[in-house]
Amino acid sequence: MSKVTFFGGEQFPLEMHKVRIIQKLTLLPIEDRLAAIEQAGFNTFLLQNADVFLDMLTDSGVNAMSDLQQAAMLIADDAYAGSATYTRLYDKLVEIFGMDYFLPAHQGRAAENILAQVLVRPDTVVPMNYHFTTSKQHITVHGAEVLEFIRPEGLEVTSYHPFKGNFDTDRLRQLVAERGADAISYVRMEAGTNLIGGQPFSLENLREVRDICREHGLTLVLDASLLADNLYFIKTREEACRDMTIPEITRAIADCSDILYFSARKLGFGRGGGICIRDEETYKKLRGYVPMYEGFLTYGGMSVREMEAITVGLDETMDEDMINQGPQFIAYMVNELEQRGVPVITPPGGLGAHVDAMRFLDHIPQPEYPAGALAAAIYLCSGVRGMERGTMSEQREPDGTEPLADMELVRLALPRRVFTLSQVSYAIDRIHWLHQNRTMVGGMKFVEEPEILRFFYGRLAPVNDWPHQLMAKFRQDFGDSL
Ligand SMILES: *Cc1c(COP(=O)(O)O)cnc(C)c1O
Repeated sequence: MSKVTFFGGEQFPLEMHKVRIIQKLTLLPIEDRLAAIEQAGFNTFLLQNADVFLDMLTDSGVNAMSDLQQAAMLIADDAYAGSATYTRLYDKLVEIFGMDYFLPAHQGRAAENILAQVLVRPDTVVPMNYHFTTSKQHITVHGAEVLEFIRPEGLEVTSYHPFKGNFDTDRLRQLVAERGADAISYVRMEAGTNLIGGQPFSLENLREVRDICREHGLTLVLDASLLADNLYFIKTREEACRDMTIPEITRAIADCSDILYFSARKLGFGRGGGICIRDEETYKKLRGYVPMYEGFLTYGGMSVREMEAITVGLDETMDEDMINQGPQFIAYMVNELEQRGVPVITPPGGLGAHVDAMRFLDHIPQPEYPAGALAAAIYLCSGVRGMERGTMSEQREPDGTEPLADMELVRLALPRRVFTLSQVSYAIDRIHWLHQNRTMVGGMKFVEEPEILRFFYGRLAPVNDWPHQLMAKFRQDFGDSL
């Protein structure tokens, strides 16, 4: 796992950085945690951060900056036009990706909006390895259909396949043969597929997709938001790339793509986003939308301070020692949970550990939201905040029926460079305890169910008094420990 061999052969992650700014955390006693989750309607989105010990809700916009990023923020050039900050960011992007044109946007979905305005034609399809929520919405709102061509192993919860994010190129060939290239607006490839556990694609697979696109004149768009993790996995898992450097792998990936966009809330350890474009004609078509939706072309809705931080963060992304902490900690967490019998998505991906609530709480029927119940129970027994990714995150059909999700997951995101191994070990310990006591956890029901985005704002109640009983068992087992 780490590059250091430990005496005795045991392996665990070893950070190649040290912490120089800290934020104090509080761990409330379980009685106060129960009050907090009750007040939040048993929905982890509605918890106050002050009541959370380890916030594993997301990896978006909460990654830790380095000393060099903080220092760079002080030299930000706050000019509306012609800012030196913009030039530094632009030069870094050209250096790394080798594409001549760049358009800034305030975050990833804003880049998706601009791309969809120009590239998505109604009554066409957009094939992709797997969708992301906002990517899909921007495509469907313009009247096109998303087709998911993930390979079958991508949807298996337990697997040892190293590249579960791979695109099924046979299905792409078949689609082109059946419907013709004109029926396809573009092909989208997502690095580190977010919604199926941060699973990577291989460079070999991306090159196959590129070959099909070139042969039929199709535009290949890369969503590079989770590129950092995907780079690490290619470097460590793909035999043919073992001797390539991270910048070489990055350039090889970019060379396959016509357009590359990213959320800098993940890529570059900052907050922002943007689009890199290879050809001038496409750039000119996209350009007009930036002043309309984002801001002038040299900032696109980002603060210049964040842009400076992203420039340095992109440079750090080219350094394996700076990007390996996330995937190594996640691997540690997934492997330790698996060894303790806790069902998790394997192999470990980027982004976080994903607990399989369908198996963890196999006594709870899906309409009683096993993943929602598990997220609430994990907070109750640990103060760790995860995110429900199951049936609660789906939306009801217009006739009121409730579609059941393919998977019931609780995502425990590990923001990059934020937590220590002892904090991760604590989370593993409490989830292990919960698993041993899993039959005590019961289902949930909505008491307030908004029509849209119910997982954000909805309020729930337990179907019986399981939270109090679980708390009593916790006190019995842990005494007066927090
Ligand atoms: C987060 C994310 C986005 C959207 O980015 P925001 O900055 O949150 O708008 C798009 N694609 C992927 C793969 C993501 O992970």
